[in-house]
Amino acid sequence: MKGKQSFGFALMALLILPAMSGCLGGSDFVEELLNEKGIPGGLTLACLDGSTYTKLVIEVDYETGHKPESSSTDMLAERLEQVCDKPRGVEIVFALTDFEHEGSWTAQDVRDRGWATKDADVRDGSTLTWQIIFPSNTYEDDNVLGVAVDASTIAIFGESVDEAEGFFGRPSSEEVENSVVVHEAGHLLGLVNLVYTSPADHEDSENKGHSNNEDSVMYWAIESRSVGSFISGDLPTEFDQDDLDDMVGLADGSISCNNQLWRP
Ligand SMILES: [Zn+2]
Repeated sequence: MKGKQSFGFALMALLILPAMSGCLGGSDFVEELLNEKGIPGGLTLACLDGSTYTKLVIEVDYETGHKPESSSTDMLAERLEQVCDKPRGVEIVFALTDFEHEGSWTAQDVRDRGWATKDADVRDGSTLTWQIIFPSNTYEDDNVLGVAVDASTIAIFGESVDEAEGFFGRPSSEEVENSVVVHEAGHLLGLVNLVYTSPADHEDSENKGHSNNEDSVMYWAIESRSVGSFISGDLPTEFDQDDLDDMVGLADGSISCNNQLWRP
C-alpha cells in the first residue's frame, strides 16, 4: 500500500487545503477527566517526573499487517528518554491484537477498543504505561493519520500513513510514520498548551494544540495526510527548543500544569 497517492488528490489538497479536523480526538474534556481516563497531557507530570514512576512502558498493539516500522518505535523511545526522567528506562512492548472493530474509527472507538485491549494498568506500582494502537482501516476523517484520545491512548492509522507518502517517496511512508508517532506522543506530553500555557508564543493560532514552527514535530500539518504538500524536504522528528523548554518548565514547576491525573 505504498505510493498510491494520485496526482489528482495532491492537487486537490493544495487547492482546497482540507479542513484539519485535528488529531486530538474527542472534545468533552471534562467528562473524560471525570472518568479517570484523563485528557491528552493528563499524565504529563507522571511522565516527566522520575520520583514515583521510574519506568515508562509503551504498549504497541497492532493488527496483522500494521506493525509499525522499528525506526518509528526506536525513535519514539529515544525522544521520550530525552524528556522523561525514567531511571528504569523506556521499554516498548509489542502485541499482535485483534481489536474486533469493523469500519472506520471515531475517537470514542479508539478509547473503547484501546482500553479493552490494554495489557497493564496505566499506573501500576512504579511503572507508567502508555498505549499506541495500530489498527486496520482509517479514522472517520481519513485525512487524519493519528489521534491522541486521552491521557494514555493513541491510535496511528497505517493505511492513511501509507497514503500520505509523497511523490517519488519523498517523504516516504516510513518517514511520515516516524514523525506522526513522535507527534502523538508529544500530545500525551501536553504539547502544545494542552495542560499549561507556554511562556513562548509557539502555539499555532489556527490549529490549537500545535506548534507554529515547521521544524518542530508538533507542527500542525504533521497530523494530516497532505503533510507532504506543506513541508518540502525532510519532515521534523524532534521537539524544538520551545517544546523542550515547556517540558523543562513543567518538570521543575515553573510552568503550572492543570488537569493532571497524578502530581509529584
Ligand atoms: Zn496533533
